[in-house]
Amino acid sequence: MDERLVVSIVCPFFNESGGVDTFYRSLSVELDRLSDYQFEVVCIDDGSQDETLAELLANAQNDDRYRVLELSRNFGKEAALSAGLDVARGDLIITLDADLQDPLSLIEELIVAWEQSDADVVLAKRHDRSSDSPSKRVSALAYYKLHNLLSTVKIPVDVGDCRLMTRQVVQALSSLPETQRFMKGLFAWLGFKAITIEYTREARFAGETKFSWWRLWNLGIEGITSFSTLPLRIWTYVGLTGAVVTMLYGIFIVIRTLISGNDVPGYTSLFTAILFFASIQLIGLGIMGEYVGRMYMESKRRPAYLVRKFHNPPEKPVDRRNPAEPK
Ligand code: UDP
Ligand code: MG
Repeated sequence: MDERLVVSIVCPFFNESGGVDTFYRSLSVELDRLSDYQFEVVCIDDGSQDETLAELLANAQNDDRYRVLELSRNFGKEAALSAGLDVARGDLIITLDADLQDPLSLIEELIVAWEQSDADVVLAKRHDRSSDSPSKRVSALAYYKLHNLLSTVKIPVDVGDCRLMTRQVVQALSSLPETQRFMKGLFAWLGFKAITIEYTREARFAGETKFSWWRLWNLGIEGITSFSTLPLRIWTYVGLTGAVVTMLYGIFIVIRTLISGNDVPGYTSLFTAILFFASIQLIGLGIMGEYVGRMYMESKRRPAYLVRKFHNPPEKPVDRRNPAEPK
């Protein structure tokens, strides 16, 4: 029986056609080098419209470490990651981006860090994001700060989705029932003992980012609304403050009218006040809408993703080391 630990590498692909071969070649070299472990690579094709799937399948044909999980359409990175984690069978599971922005040398570093500690999760923190544009860096930092201010589940700053997890953690993650999966938040919600290693984030070697500003904005809202109800509850306090201020102002006007008689009120200030409070109400309603919309979607209990086909699945169960047996 093969006594080596089984490590699953989980990697989502969406329209990465130009980069699949480079990914496959560099990853295979890296995995061959790390001969102390058995590897399986779970590539999720997240409904790519280009040649990504065909290229993944061609590579998987030559190498039975590679499995390809074909989703029925594009479900987004969060769902694709969930799908990959659900079929990964390793003792240790590492998530990576397909664009090699997380350098492959991280695989060994993550495993070594895990071996040298008693942690269940090893996080990879980007200590140098100079490959990202300044506006992306600033907005990412602002987002982490805002999220952590509003939410009781704190997400670690500059830790992306690249991490190592033990089987136990991944099983806990898969058992979470929500279909709208903001992975950074879910990972943080799980807890467990985590340690962090640092790395420099590379530039994308092929293709371009799949996250437009609009998509990032939506992901951000998803993150906050999934993990905080403060934006909903804050309207009580905004309303209360408004009511108190208005009441005091009302009393002031009545007294002033009693003392100095009725004056003609200015339309401008009146109009501004009406517009201002109307906008505040609309924002409040919009925020309600975000939550109600999510409740609506979640209440349908649709799965987070659908699999069209699992190509090249493992033939036999992985040889898992029996913990009761001596090493
Ligand atoms: N991705 C995905 N589905 C999507 C969008 C992205 O599976 O709908 C994958 C993408 O192929 C890549 C990873 O998620 O492997 C990270 O995407 P990207 O590099 O575009 O994000 P960035 O690094 O710019 O944040
Ligand atoms: Mg990327």
